Amino acid sequence: MPGRDMTGPRFGPQMGGRGRMGGGGPGGPKNCVCPSCEYTQPHVRGTPCMQVKCPKCGMKMVRGD
Ligand SMILES: [Zn+2]
Repeated sequence: MPGRDMTGPRFGPQMGGRGRMGGGGPGGPKNCVCPSCEYTQPHVRGTPCMQVKCPKCGMKMVRGD
């Protein structure tokens, strides 16, 4: 009846619709982004982006969307 998305009631509303990521895995809509080279990878749940280093340049990544 209501046209709601079944993505998960625990998560907030996805703003902006689809991002530039083609797939994206289940678990979280957020990505980690390298502030240096803009490399983007899906955020691993339980691991802060700040603890993830960019595989390209080694910079600490930051949260993206
Ligand atoms: Zn980088």
